[in-house]
Amino acid sequence: MEDPIEKLARYFKEFPGIGERQAKRFVYFLLHKNPSYVKELGDNINSLKNLIHQCPSCFLFFRGDSDQLCEVCKNPKTDKTSLLIIEKDADYENIKKSKNYSGMYFILGGLAPIVTKETPSFLRLKELLNTIETRAKNDKLKEIIIALSLNPQGEHTDMYLREQISHLQDRYKFKVVSLGRGLSTGTELEYSDGETIKNALLNRQ
Ligand SMILES: [Zn+2]
Repeated sequence: MEDPIEKLARYFKEFPGIGERQAKRFVYFLLHKNPSYVKELGDNINSLKNLIHQCPSCFLFFRGDSDQLCEVCKNPKTDKTSLLIIEKDADYENIKKSKNYSGMYFILGGLAPIVTKETPSFLRLKELLNTIETRAKNDKLKEIIIALSLNPQGEHTDMYLREQISHLQDRYKFKVVSLGRGLSTGTELEYSDGETIKNALLNRQ
């Protein structure tokens, strides 16, 4: 039978940014904690998938039923004429905190790799095109804001998306702008402060 310490460490090693040594440290941390802490941690992990679901329209994680739309998509105050494309959930948190955007979101789920010509499977390209078409037909979509990190892969994905949505843009005449141009080179949205994001939103082009 596999050593329980090694076994648990293997799970932690799959976490983003966690290596062998850190994974082991997590296991020993838990061994030092009292049993109620470990039990509560386990319970919280177990209930996560039951309580949190992904919105079928924007792909944000939210608390609610699996067949429902999230708070942003459901809220009548949300500006349905604007759609902001971001890479991941953490970017959403940051843009929300900057309090300067009241439109819809779309979580792309990754960036397009520069080397391959194929559509990476983690990119929600088909879903994005569907959402854009629905919004253009039903909500008179006026503007798409591409807000990806300002690094080579982010810029490559920006161009790639513009290409992919150009036929919809011709048909429905919405504007496509990039948030990245208001940020300095190398900026990651996830680590930008509210003021930086606010300025980037105001200076989008
Ligand atoms: Zn949503």
